Amino acid sequence: MHFYAEEMTKQFPARSRPTECQICHRSPATTKIVYEWRANYDTRDTLVLNAVLAALSLALGHVWYDTEAIEFRTEHWFCSSCCHRLCWRQTCSKIITNACIVILIIASIVFVCAAGVLCYLVRTSATHEEISGARKFALVGLGVCIVALLGTRVYRAFGFPKALMGLGKSPFSYVSRSRE
Ligand SMILES: [Zn+2]
Repeated sequence: MHFYAEEMTKQFPARSRPTECQICHRSPATTKIVYEWRANYDTRDTLVLNAVLAALSLALGHVWYDTEAIEFRTEHWFCSSCCHRLCWRQTCSKIITNACIVILIIASIVFVCAAGVLCYLVRTSATHEEISGARKFALVGLGVCIVALLGTRVYRAFGFPKALMGLGKSPFSYVSRSRE
């Protein structure tokens, strides 16, 4: 991880100012954007296997884990129109991602409740309609969980220009952006 951070810092060094925009390669670069990346020494990625735990770790991650972090900065030059488009795209994907986190938490709760009701109905030998109704509810809850879990990846997948794609590859994630 230390090696990766060093490589990326070298690849996008602080001093060099390219003449053209790093996205469209047509217009002159006018805006400098500094990205900060960070990796935490925790096992959050393994928790993603479990939708409920993932939701919890996303929501409470900062509270639960007292971790050490590796950070690195990369600097990029864009033209002003690419920069505007990028900012807009980042804002949109951020909103979608945050919405998905909220949906994921709600859907997890619905799924757990529906599964509980289903168990109860099966044990008390309820009618066939009641059981299939509860089962449908649980399946919908589970489906929404999976979709929302995928949705939480939106920001990582679409929030960055192609050149930077994979820069924030696991376990590194994007922390902040500043304009200089
Ligand atoms: Zn451009």
